[in-house]
Amino acid sequence: MNTISSILAQSSFSEADLEQLLTCEGDQMQLLFDTGKKIKEIYIGNKIYFRGLIEFSNICHKDCYYCGIRRSNRLVNRFNLTDQEILDAAHFADECNFGSIVLQSGEISSSSFTHRITNLISQIKHQTNGRLRITLSLGEQAESVYKQWYQAGAHRYLLRIETTNPELYSKIHPSDGAHDFYRRLDCLHALRAIGFQTGTGVMIGLPSQTIQDLAHDLLFFEQFGIDMVGMGPYLKHSQTPLYALRNELLPIEQRFNLTLKMIATLRILMKDINIAATTALQAIDPFGREKGIMAGANVIMPNITPGLYRNDYLLYEHKPCTDDEPAQCRGCLEARVVMAGSEIGYGDWGDSFHFVGRKKNLPDS
Ligand code: SAH
Repeated sequence: MNTISSILAQSSFSEADLEQLLTCEGDQMQLLFDTGKKIKEIYIGNKIYFRGLIEFSNICHKDCYYCGIRRSNRLVNRFNLTDQEILDAAHFADECNFGSIVLQSGEISSSSFTHRITNLISQIKHQTNGRLRITLSLGEQAESVYKQWYQAGAHRYLLRIETTNPELYSKIHPSDGAHDFYRRLDCLHALRAIGFQTGTGVMIGLPSQTIQDLAHDLLFFEQFGIDMVGMGPYLKHSQTPLYALRNELLPIEQRFNLTLKMIATLRILMKDINIAATTALQAIDPFGREKGIMAGANVIMPNITPGLYRNDYLLYEHKPCTDDEPAQCRGCLEARVVMAGSEIGYGDWGDSFHFVGRKKNLPDS
């Protein structure tokens, strides 16, 4: 078996190498994190980009077994921001010079929803003079819908594959045809073909998920040539079916470290992509996102949803900062990024270098 430092010196990695990186501990694990950070700095610099996250509705037609806002959870207070509230939040992001926003919600597929989003994209573009890059995270939609949103001016899309093991995927979703692994995969291919900067990700530490599954997830990102990744630890929620398996989970610190190892290993594998330090990391450790940055992540998504609604967008328990107002988030995150020894890329779109390189190599650009 190779040592961690000899694996880190290689230019390509086998599945066994990845598994070894994901299982290292102690000093070896610290070496992995330091290498992730160093590679980030060499290939894409020391800047952290903010994406103002607007969680504008928790109304969802899906029934994912892990998610707190699933359709069958009758205890959720369902909300839907008005267009004006969304426009105000976008204006706030622009004023803060964030460069990008993310519009996220539960999954709704209807022509009125499609039109609403198309109009919002156009209005945000107009209102901010095209200064904000718009990312959508609105689940699985028809290709024509994705096209319409792209043409309206949204150029990034996040759709987590959740796990690349189809068998595990079917264990954490209902088998009703509406939660199909291959359909989700098709959506990712469609998004990429349309021209979106495409982002995906997985949950880490799901019941019965193995290290081999996670190594396969990383190889999938590489083979797909993904532009952006957001991965976080799986966190239990008492109002979901997966809660029944809570005793089978890895201890929370192990899930946390495994997430950091996934971030660092992915950075070593895909040097020029955007990787988010997700909020779920901070649900476990008050410095979770900083630790993500120190392991190779370069994107943070400050929550700029109006404070009033935050307690109702609970995908998992102990979500941090639900009582804050957007302005508080900004100051707090800025301090945190500086503390982690990085700079903030204000006023910059912070496009994935990987995407920029990929576009240059396309014949029509
Ligand atoms: N409707 C959109 C956005 C969903 S929420 C979509 O389908 O893409 C965004 C992400 O939150 C999900 O993709 C999932 O990976 C994550 N999530 C949901 N429940 C979670 C939980 N209990 N623990 C950790 N992450 C969770």
